[in-house]
Amino acid sequence: MRIIHISAEIAPVAKEGGLGDVVYGLSRETNKRGHPTSIIIPFYDILEIEELEDLFCSFQNFPVKFAGQQWNNRIWTATVGNLKVYFIDPDHPARFFSRGTIYGCHDDVERFLYFSKASLDFSLAKMDADLIHLHDWPTAIIGALANEEKTVHKKEIPPILLTIHNMDYQGRCAPWEINKIGLDPQNYYLPDLMQDSLYPEALNLLRGGIIYSQAVTTVSPSYCKETRETYIGEGLEELLKGRQEKYSGIINGIDFDYWNPKTDKHLPSHYSTETAQKFVSAHHSIEGKKQAKMALQERLKLDPSEPRPIIGVVSRLVPQKGVHIILHAIRSVVEKGGQFALLGSSQNSEIQQHFEQIQRECACNPHIGLNLKHEERLAHMIFAGSDIFIVPSNFEPCGLTQMIALRYGTIPIVRKTGGLKDTIYDRDNDSPEEEKAAGFTFEDPTPEAFDQALGRAIGLWRNHPGEWRKLMLQGMNHDYSWKKPAQEYLQLYNSLLSVFLS
Ligand code: ADP
Repeated sequence: MRIIHISAEIAPVAKEGGLGDVVYGLSRETNKRGHPTSIIIPFYDILEIEELEDLFCSFQNFPVKFAGQQWNNRIWTATVGNLKVYFIDPDHPARFFSRGTIYGCHDDVERFLYFSKASLDFSLAKMDADLIHLHDWPTAIIGALANEEKTVHKKEIPPILLTIHNMDYQGRCAPWEINKIGLDPQNYYLPDLMQDSLYPEALNLLRGGIIYSQAVTTVSPSYCKETRETYIGEGLEELLKGRQEKYSGIINGIDFDYWNPKTDKHLPSHYSTETAQKFVSAHHSIEGKKQAKMALQERLKLDPSEPRPIIGVVSRLVPQKGVHIILHAIRSVVEKGGQFALLGSSQNSEIQQHFEQIQRECACNPHIGLNLKHEERLAHMIFAGSDIFIVPSNFEPCGLTQMIALRYGTIPIVRKTGGLKDTIYDRDNDSPEEEKAAGFTFEDPTPEAFDQALGRAIGLWRNHPGEWRKLMLQGMNHDYSWKKPAQEYLQLYNSLLSVFLS
């Protein structure tokens, strides 16, 4: 089966959050299993060029009709981790993808409408796909575009699957915007179609993907249920409930080659469950991880003189991620004798400025290290060098960082919501479940509930190093690779294909 992903991100060349990781990890796994998988993304000016192999221009003048005019596009091709990636590079005066960022421009809707139209046209004209896999609002409208190609222009269109990674972002816009890609708003801006249910004056691109794709997935069974049944659906509850026969949740994996403490190029030392044998069993760390902790302390100027657990965070700093609890945790961790290491950045200028203020206030504190940027190397150093990792989200579609932390022997404390609930059970209060790994969890999104879990984690780290070590090794051995999720996606792809062929 030939699979094409059309996405705004792919790690490690263009990544803002988990979407990039998922497209990369899932594609590599299906490719490895003999299903040629390619990806189409925009040719951003911020691509990590050193991650691209054999970059060349495969088409100089691929034409795309947009807003009543024809525009030429260069189509670049490169290899990323064995995957073939196509990049759309438009010759358009708005320079859609030369903005120094993936998202956050005033014309994001227009930028991604252009990308959606160009990608679908290119894949239908030049690629022979059996299935097209879309991701999130930036490419969701391809569902509607493809439906017009099929019903109006009588073209043969492969089945389309949409994965929603986060309902918080839906691509709301003025109805006339879709004129630019040749869709008539009169046919779509209707209450049971693409008219937004919370903001009726707006058209909602994500709704288009949900309605016109042959199947819709989200990234965990719990988030699938929460979005159908509660306010977490952000206004899409009724639509999703009405289409529940084609809507399901598949938990994400992480790329076990990329996130691997045994080989990670960003770490000063390497380790694995095997190297753990070399350490005395009563110690709560393992050879290699201890050096990673020292390197992290040096990088963030944390005082290494006394044994203290490092509590790490790597996160976009948006309300979804429980920013109020993260802010509270900075002081609470230090009061409980730990050190706090945060890497995070925000598109929300109010939140970013607030953290910058705290960063200035804590500059001289030897137990607090805050870095407010996006940096791949430091992310890896925090996953490896911390003892505990916190994910206190208000809601969480899946969450990758708790699974990455486990892979690096760092014990997660998570709030019981969405994918966090599906991946981590509480080692003190829940009975062990085979599909989940052990950590610490809390229910209420409050500083008090968080403190209770933090106290239990730090207590175990300090007073029962042998137990802690067991927990670490259990987490490192847990299989959160793409093996199982990719199998589920392939089953879904196959079922869509068999309906299409019948
Ligand atoms: P989301 O997609 O909602 O941001 P996920 O947990 O699914 O959350 O994925 C987050 C991914 O982004 C992880 O790979 C994490 O390491 C990475 N990440 C988040 N913030 C940063 C940052 N400031 N610097 C580097 N990587 C980051």
